[in-house]
Amino acid sequence: MTELLDFETLIQTFDDLPMGVGIFEVPDTSDSKSIRYIYMNKVILYEMRKAKEEVFGKKIIEVAPEAFEHEGGLMVMDTYRKVAAEGKSINLGLVEYSNHMVAGTYECSVHPIKENYVYVMLRNVTELEQKKQELEQKNNELRQYAIIASHDLKSPLNTVSEIINLIELQFKLDDSLSELLHFISDSTHRMRNVIDALLDHGRIGQGKEKTMVDCQKLLEVIQQDLATKIKETNAIIEVGKMPQIMGYKTELRLLFQNLISNGIKFSKPGLAPKVKISAKKLKGWTFTVEDNGIGIDKQFQEQIFNIFERLHDRRKYDGSGIGLAHCKKIIELHKGEIWVKSKPGEGSAFHFSIPCSV
Ligand code: ADP
Repeated sequence: MTELLDFETLIQTFDDLPMGVGIFEVPDTSDSKSIRYIYMNKVILYEMRKAKEEVFGKKIIEVAPEAFEHEGGLMVMDTYRKVAAEGKSINLGLVEYSNHMVAGTYECSVHPIKENYVYVMLRNVTELEQKKQELEQKNNELRQYAIIASHDLKSPLNTVSEIINLIELQFKLDDSLSELLHFISDSTHRMRNVIDALLDHGRIGQGKEKTMVDCQKLLEVIQQDLATKIKETNAIIEVGKMPQIMGYKTELRLLFQNLISNGIKFSKPGLAPKVKISAKKLKGWTFTVEDNGIGIDKQFQEQIFNIFERLHDRRKYDGSGIGLAHCKKIIELHKGEIWVKSKPGEGSAFHFSIPCSV
């Protein structure tokens, strides 16, 4: 084993690494001009556009004097000196680097080896950063489109509603006409709800910070919000011991609220809904919202999480079919998973996991 680990083998390994690795000597930790290249692997030599003969054993001031002329270069060399002097690694994060041949963004960290020697690890993330920025810009455009489209879709709907009101006020209508207008009014109302729900879906997780969320308190607030529905349906809500987790509070509230509302809504005729909420610590936290309702056939248990997917006639169970899509997006935002276990006629148990480190 150890015979294999000769100097040549190690150098070969470093040369083949997909990231940049370089060793520097810092003979005088108070003078950046003393810093010398000892070894640079192929990735760094490529980024420098130099051959190893031009670099190894030479000082930075001789090979890349331009590094002393810009802030980024000076900052990186200060870091080599600091790490050599103090013996502690420093993660520089993203560093802008350029010379007359190359320019780009690098992820950079510097580590001590032994007295007066440090090594640097570099990863060129220029393309990744550009792609991230492009994506951000596209997302912003899409957000703008959604806002404009929803506004433009809602204003004709408002006009329809106003005209219906006018007709109802100014004309004496027979029953069938009245029913027809009622039908139109109902449809415009539903369409407005769909537009709002779509906008809400787009807004999930936007520009918000995670905080410590007390799920016990959150569920108390949700029960207050649902008080009318709970009373009307004689529902029983049972909440077990809930943890505090790091998460997006508004979104977690929407998630629990959707699952509990569904548990109440999809109840069996003649049986008061019972919804039980519990939490279990596994690798992260796994929550369960369980009901005694109508249940869900196995073949539909995945598709119900898709947007606008509904299994029932609206006249029997009202809804827009977006609630579970919201839940899925919220769970993805928390890097968790959501799934359902259910048998028709025997109730449903919605489970979702939220990893601890989020
Ligand atoms: P909505 O409740 O507005 O119809 P959701 O996205 O919340 O939309 O749910 C999608 C579909 O999944 C529902 O229409 C229903 O058919 C089914 N479903 C959701 N929750 C339950 C539940 N607790 N019990 C039975 N069916 C459910």
